[in-house]
Amino acid sequence: MTEDAIASNLRKIRKAAGLSLSKAAELTSVSKAMLGQIERGESSPTIATLWKIAKGFHLPLSALIGAALAVRPDSKEGYKTVQFPGSISVKIVFPFDPEMGGETFQIALTPGQSHISQPHELGVTEEVFVLEGEMEVLREEEWVALKAGEGLRFRADQPHGYRGGEMGAVFLNMHHYPRHVGVPTVI
Ligand code: MN
Repeated sequence: MTEDAIASNLRKIRKAAGLSLSKAAELTSVSKAMLGQIERGESSPTIATLWKIAKGFHLPLSALIGAALAVRPDSKEGYKTVQFPGSISVKIVFPFDPEMGGETFQIALTPGQSHISQPHELGVTEEVFVLEGEMEVLREEEWVALKAGEGLRFRADQPHGYRGGEMGAVFLNMHHYPRHVGVPTVI
């Protein structure tokens, strides 16, 4: 179900931008074969692959995993959780708003689970606010410990990461994008 939503989002976005699979592969550094498999629903993209696509297309992450995942658009029921196999689960809390240039996710980490993210687009800032449990955030090559009720802001245009404590953690993750991200004229 989730794969179908991501597949159709990716196909629509690429077609709307008038991009061939080859050109999309060039922009995102995701192979043409892999992009094709994702679009046909034959392969479930990892969160790392989705971030590469978002970065290459200058789009927020929720443009790829949102919309089709809405339980009922504009209802307080919000969005379905996307569980990436062997990785984190991500739920959209607030989808991307072009006026504010931001989006908010709720992410769950299992005990000790570590997730390293490659740099996002230049100028992207993230904030983490811990709702439950304890965790660490990798900021500028240093792990910073956070517990429920604590938050941290960091530059996300460099490698960064999240690691769950003994009981795991649930946190809000805000992304703030530079102005050109999310503008429909992708290329
Ligand atoms: Mn990130």
